[in-house]
Amino acid sequence: MPWSSVIGQYRVKNILQRAIAEGRIAHAYCFWGPEGIGKDALALEFAKTLNCDTPVHRDGIIEACDTCKSCNQASVLQHPNIQLVFSLPAAKSDDGKSGSSILKLTDDQIRIIQDQLKAKAENPYYNISIPNATQIRIAAVRDVKKNISMSATQRGRRFVIISEADAMNPEAANAFLKTLEEPNANITIILTTSRRDQLISTILSRCQQIRCDTLPDQDIADALAARLGVATEEATLIARLADGSYSKACELLNDDLTELRAEIVSLLRAILKQRNYILQLSHQIELMTGDKNRNRIEKMLILLLLWLRDAYALSVSQNIDVIINIDQVTDLQNFVKNFAHTPLDRAATAIERSIELVRRNVDIGLLLTTLALDLRSLLVQRR
Ligand SMILES: [Zn+2]
Repeated sequence: MPWSSVIGQYRVKNILQRAIAEGRIAHAYCFWGPEGIGKDALALEFAKTLNCDTPVHRDGIIEACDTCKSCNQASVLQHPNIQLVFSLPAAKSDDGKSGSSILKLTDDQIRIIQDQLKAKAENPYYNISIPNATQIRIAAVRDVKKNISMSATQRGRRFVIISEADAMNPEAANAFLKTLEEPNANITIILTTSRRDQLISTILSRCQQIRCDTLPDQDIADALAARLGVATEEATLIARLADGSYSKACELLNDDLTELRAEIVSLLRAILKQRNYILQLSHQIELMTGDKNRNRIEKMLILLLLWLRDAYALSVSQNIDVIINIDQVTDLQNFVKNFAHTPLDRAATAIERSIELVRRNVDIGLLLTTLALDLRSLLVQRR
């Protein structure tokens, strides 16, 4: 597989490989699609390949050698031909009249930026996050213009990669539009965005737009295992929770899934309790929603869904190979023994619906209560 630093994205890799092979590199691209699927990773790999001193041609595929000076510079995000632009905090006296926006930042801010760039170089799926940096400002666009106007110091193709380009504020976007309107023969601008609808149409229409795909669970699980040494079972579970996003999978790794699962088990216990369930249920829901963390509730619901799906799969096939929560197989088998005659598939559908709702602005306490009562009527009263 070409460009192994980029997980999946076979279709997009083909498009870009063909562009390289045919020598038809666009002046501007917009790589769009959900967060954490590798848009920046694709842009960086594309730029690295087109700057490599000794590219490797194999089976009609062209790859960066990953050993030459140019590749080494690109790998640490220090290539003079590859400029990465991202949101920065507002600098003191950011009048934009002269100088670089970077030069006006404090030493602390610059240190944070360097650390963030290091993390990004190590993992192109890393989301650069700098305190108070929510916008790409006009000073950054002026930096780009200045950079473009200077002559190249190194051979190869020059790239400007604007990460999460939708963060450009209106002033920056208008200035940037002028840059797009004056294409340079040897310069390619790549915008990446997970909110394409936030980009002005005049910018979009000047770019070749390339949709990037969410990642298959298996690709995410394989990447977690290969890159981070995550055990297969955990990698499979996290991949299922990650919604096709490798960044999300990496974030989930930092969460305590054991704790989340314990809460789910408590909720299920309360739902399935024979008597006086109301009190225990409302107490459990209060505990779960106390910090009003929607994201956490969503993860818990997905875990609950995966658990019930496992139970359903076990109830119809008894084949434990299809199970994701393989470490809980005994609990699952016990559960299936007791609830095999209940509509587990409908219970799973009820949870799916709640996951949809939790992403909107529905009251989460009410949502969980409704779901719990639905599950109870499906699972308990039909036994
Ligand atoms: Zn190289």
